[in-house]
Amino acid sequence: MHISRQAVERLASYHSPEWPVISLYLRVDQEHITDDHYSTRLKNLLRQASESPGIELSRAQVEAVEADLERIRIFFRDHGDEFGQGVALFASSQAGLWEVYETPREVGNSIAVDFRPAIAPLVRMLEQYEPLCVCLVSRDRARIFTGHLGEFSERAVKLDQEVPGQHEQGGWSQARFQRHIEEHVHQHFKRLAIDLFALFEQEPFRFLIVAGPHEVVSDFLEYLHPYVRERYIGTFYVLMEATAKQVREEAAKIVREWTRQEKQRYLDLLRHEALGNDMGVTGLAKVIEALQMGNVLSLIVDDRLEAPGAYCLHCGVVQPPAVESPELCLYCGGPVRRVANIVPEVYANAYRQNANLVFLTERDQQGQLAELGGIGAILRFRVAPAPES
Ligand SMILES: [Zn+2]
Repeated sequence: MHISRQAVERLASYHSPEWPVISLYLRVDQEHITDDHYSTRLKNLLRQASESPGIELSRAQVEAVEADLERIRIFFRDHGDEFGQGVALFASSQAGLWEVYETPREVGNSIAVDFRPAIAPLVRMLEQYEPLCVCLVSRDRARIFTGHLGEFSERAVKLDQEVPGQHEQGGWSQARFQRHIEEHVHQHFKRLAIDLFALFEQEPFRFLIVAGPHEVVSDFLEYLHPYVRERYIGTFYVLMEATAKQVREEAAKIVREWTRQEKQRYLDLLRHEALGNDMGVTGLAKVIEALQMGNVLSLIVDDRLEAPGAYCLHCGVVQPPAVESPELCLYCGGPVRRVANIVPEVYANAYRQNANLVFLTERDQQGQLAELGGIGAILRFRVAPAPES
């Protein structure tokens, strides 16, 4: 099964205090001809999880982990070649968890033993999974595509059989014939708008793109239900006979440009709030503090940012960076795990709090955020300033 937004949400809320969860990410395709077969990488990852899980486990927990590592090894022996690019696997058999997803190759290779699934690599990719609807429209036809940028397919072809061609004008006057055609076009747009609204109610899409001749598109937009119209982000022109691949490529350009502009709006808002108001914070320490208070509405982060840190294995809270090597969680007293890069834990936690995640991948925008510490958050509520001491 392909990874989906729903699956990520489910995994994000999963917590098993008793039984450890193994999270495995494995690239199964070959990037370079010199790449070793994935089975070698898998063997190394399984050994790593067995020899240094990075957390203290009871004897029963160690046995549960070993049993799952063996189950994973057998699974890949029997089914490894059935996957295209990458695999994400989550196992805690004692707790009844065993989920395997096909993923894009970008999730890389890693393994983790924890009491929560390691969701950061999936969370990082979610923006590629925004549900998208593309509607090709002409005066008598339409094609509807749905999916996301990774997986995209045609849903329906609408053909108004009744729109008469010019050769059928017969004895009608030109004016009357024209009105007759306009009425068909009107009915066609109306039905199509109803279909799109029904589709939207069934599977809400984040983005709508309407493609076709300029004046047809602008006429048709008037017919859309306001909820559907709100999702409209742009248009392009292709022939009605275009392939799904052509449609997806054109749609991707529009989504990318829209996303780039949206990221810029977040950056501007962050700068405004952090400098002028008090509904924004910048820099890793302040973001971690806001996160601990459940106060992150939107997290804006430079994709390349890395910093060491620690988080609690029990309550999951990222520890304040100012505290030197905390042995125990400052909030619950649970065991903490130190990691070379805490940033993925920060955005996974922000995701668990339903924050919007904004990853900056373009040099220009990364440069703007660098001036603010490479990371920032727009807050949910205003925090009273600390009393002067
Ligand atoms: Zn804790």
